[in-house]
Amino acid sequence: MTDIINLLPDSVANQIAAGEVVQRPASAVKELLENAIDAGADEIKLIVKDAGKTLLQIIDNGCGMSETDARMSFERHATSKIHKADDLFHIQTMGFRGEALASIAAIAQVELKTKLHDRDIGSKIIVEGSKVIEQSEIITPSGTSFTIKNLFFNTPARRNFLKAPIVEMRHINEEFIRVALIHPNISFVFFEDDRKKIILTKGSLKQRIIALFGKNYNSKLLSVEENTTVVDIKGFVGKPETARKTRGEQYFFVNHRFIKHPYLNHAVLSAFNELIFDGSFPSYFLHLKVDPANIDVNIHPTKTEVNFKDEKAIYSIIRAAVKMALGKYSLTPQIDFDVEQSLNLNPPPAGTEIRPPQIHYNPDYNPFEQNDDRKKTVDNNGFHDVKLSSRQISNSLNWQELYKNDASNFEIVDDKKDDSEVFDEANFSLHLKNSVFSSLNNRWLVSVIHEGLAIIDRQAAHERVLFDRFSALSEMSKGSSQRKIFPERLQLSATDAELLIDLLPELNALGFEFNALINNEFDVYGTPPDLSNEILLPIIEGMLDYYKLNQMELKIDKRRNVLLSMAKKLSVRQGQELVQEEINALINALFESALPAKSPSGKDIIAIISPSEVAAKFRN
Ligand code: ADP
Ligand code: MG
Repeated sequence: MTDIINLLPDSVANQIAAGEVVQRPASAVKELLENAIDAGADEIKLIVKDAGKTLLQIIDNGCGMSETDARMSFERHATSKIHKADDLFHIQTMGFRGEALASIAAIAQVELKTKLHDRDIGSKIIVEGSKVIEQSEIITPSGTSFTIKNLFFNTPARRNFLKAPIVEMRHINEEFIRVALIHPNISFVFFEDDRKKIILTKGSLKQRIIALFGKNYNSKLLSVEENTTVVDIKGFVGKPETARKTRGEQYFFVNHRFIKHPYLNHAVLSAFNELIFDGSFPSYFLHLKVDPANIDVNIHPTKTEVNFKDEKAIYSIIRAAVKMALGKYSLTPQIDFDVEQSLNLNPPPAGTEIRPPQIHYNPDYNPFEQNDDRKKTVDNNGFHDVKLSSRQISNSLNWQELYKNDASNFEIVDDKKDDSEVFDEANFSLHLKNSVFSSLNNRWLVSVIHEGLAIIDRQAAHERVLFDRFSALSEMSKGSSQRKIFPERLQLSATDAELLIDLLPELNALGFEFNALINNEFDVYGTPPDLSNEILLPIIEGMLDYYKLNQMELKIDKRRNVLLSMAKKLSVRQGQELVQEEINALINALFESALPAKSPSGKDIIAIISPSEVAAKFRN
């Protein structure tokens, strides 16, 4: 048999390598941003068109390249960052494998323009699918510009594999944030489809966090700092009360490189322990500086995992440093644990005359008298041996009603009817609607109706009411907006901003009018009528949190998700006190709904405890 093994041509080898290095436009953005940083740039411009499918451009004012280096930079394993194996243990740069440019050039049309600072003339090179098409001298500013056109033009399967523009754009944003966040000493300008999207001026880490994630971070951050022989930690954690329902801003960096590390993430969470509710996530931005010799450098270029030599020690140091930051801020948890314990019956309406309770006693009563006269005597003193009607029980819970309708005290009870379990659906809602409900633990509403003890989950009920109202508003389309005299400015995180832009049509239908500005800021010109007096930022952020959760958990369309998330965010929280008028209004509105028994997210709103269930409680 003849020999059959041959070396692959470079272009094929590069294309194969590209499959690993450049999975999507965002990977190219990451590599090119990192190259600009390694080149010592302090001004970087990123231009993205069509979510990176048609154009990505990165312009830096870094060191630039000579004519020969410019040509060499596209070769595989061509790097200026390491020379010998030992250098692997002292890596201070973001890149070192010399693979990125070769990979990108294998699957795109790349134009490089570069000039060293002390030269008058620079170089231009055009490479398409690993083939050099043109190399010439040009006049160009000092530094480097890479233009990547038609990514995956020669690998149609991969191009078709790209996700919707919003998804690809989200990945690009995230890569941009990961790089920009930890380099606050570099200024960035980010254009998306000819729109200036983000402008970041040089400043401190705190200023960078605020610029990227919103001004409200200004009062949310606690500084973390700890210097040890194993690791230096510097950064911020969010105050416990700012923890959010979805994993929001959680960033670890090691030597200026973004990493994901579940074990170290746990160190931060355990420091927060008890300070935040289960199921909420604190935000953190922590930069670890570790001797490069103590990390495993042989990491895959696109992976974000890192192995530390002293993982356990680093865990303890992070945990202690975060605890200290939290401890300095507040020694005791800020959560009011008492709210849940109190049985909260509503206070009487203002102006009600409070009468002392009347005590009936029998002056002739002798406890040592063992005869049946006792019962008689009691009866004579006004204790009737009459079964209380459901109405009367209801009134004993809702004592206000006693003043409104004295006649009900004398309601005669039909014994048979009262104990029967026959369920009359038509009357059921009516009974509920006409009952007066009291608050239990600021969480449930309770009333006694004909069918038994009715319990309403307050939050689920409110969700139903709001969902119906927002559905109606969004069907009216547009007519429902309340214009603001002065627009309110909101700054969101990049992810939230991206999502908000995607949801603009649905939010407009509800009555919101947003105008997108740069740096994830928005001006709000109009809101649904119910929200005209509210502070919008927490509402929008909370709504987007629920939207993201619903996206993960429920299969529902955008419109329904927006309505549902808005209803969830605005619904009355556990522990929040409602006055009787509010309770009555909620009950009335609930029974206006066509679906009063189920919340829009499928939770039961009403539970009935039947008289026989109550009886079972007393059966010993
Ligand atoms: P690596 O970054 O791993 O060295 P790359 O393929 O990303 O590999 O880049 C190859 C080489 O090209 C780099 O080592 C660097 O010398 C040069 N280079 C790439 N981008 C730039 C840039 N923006 N400015 C200056 N030199 C660059
Ligand atoms: Mg590189």
